Amino acid sequence: MTKKEVRNLYKAKRFSLSSPERMKMDDLMLIWFQRLAFDTVTTVLSYWPIEERGEMNTHLFVRYLEYLIPGLRVCYPVINPDTAEMTAFEVNDDTTFKLNEYNIAEPENAVAVDPHDIDMVFVPLLAFDAEGYRVGYGKGFYDRFLMRCSPEVNKVGFSYFEAIDKIDDRNQFDVPLNYCITPQRLYEF
Ligand code: ADP
Ligand code: MG
Repeated sequence: MTKKEVRNLYKAKRFSLSSPERMKMDDLMLIWFQRLAFDTVTTVLSYWPIEERGEMNTHLFVRYLEYLIPGLRVCYPVINPDTAEMTAFEVNDDTTFKLNEYNIAEPENAVAVDPHDIDMVFVPLLAFDAEGYRVGYGKGFYDRFLMRCSPEVNKVGFSYFEAIDKIDDRNQFDVPLNYCITPQRLYEF
């Protein structure tokens, strides 16, 4: 399937899930998430779930990491729509968030973090394939950002649906995932 076909299909599939169904799947994904190794993780880049897009509750996974790793640094992205660049900002209890033009909450009074300092990135996706390649929302924000991270960074995706066979129109910039978590299993690539 092409990315365009995948985007249309998986947006629709996600919208077909009810809110209670999604909550149940989020809990199942948290159980798989707990199987990952976190010994080297001190800084994580999460993303704010977009309710209108039916995204999974990433806060659950961040909360688990905060409980597990004392002093964990938690970052959220801020995008520049003109350049398609993304910057990670470290947040704390005093950070305020503001909705951007895509209705995504972004930190406004936080400190920018060097992408090389990030050990784990939650990578948003609409679908992924058997080799860990992903289809995002189509702007390449994460492909551009991950290029600037350490080669050792752990890239973790979450999906309510299982892997598709293959994304036919991969490009040279697409950065594959290391792990993808679904309600049914943990994929390791
Ligand atoms: P997504 O990753 O959001 O699903 P695509 O993979 O289709 O979106 O990428 C969107 C566009 O961004 C493509 O035209 C791709 O070539 C471009 N792109 C991605 N990463 C880079 C990069 N590092 N430098 C320049 N262009 C890039
Ligand atoms: Mg891509």
